[in-house]
Amino acid sequence: MFPARTPPISSGDETTPHAACPACDSQPGAPCTSHSGTRTRRHDVHRARTAALAATS
Ligand SMILES: [Zn+2]
Repeated sequence: MFPARTPPISSGDETTPHAACPACDSQPGAPCTSHSGTRTRRHDVHRARTAALAATS
């Protein structure tokens, strides 16, 4: 039996980056996308965005 554990829907910086992504052009607060926007990167963001976030914070 698996515990009924719901993954936390974080409103923190990891899942809602406060910067646009230079790699995939996603808007601030939106997740990164791959494959021309057809795939959402739900678990991580582009490295370029991480760098942009680090630069703005
Ligand atoms: Zn991106």
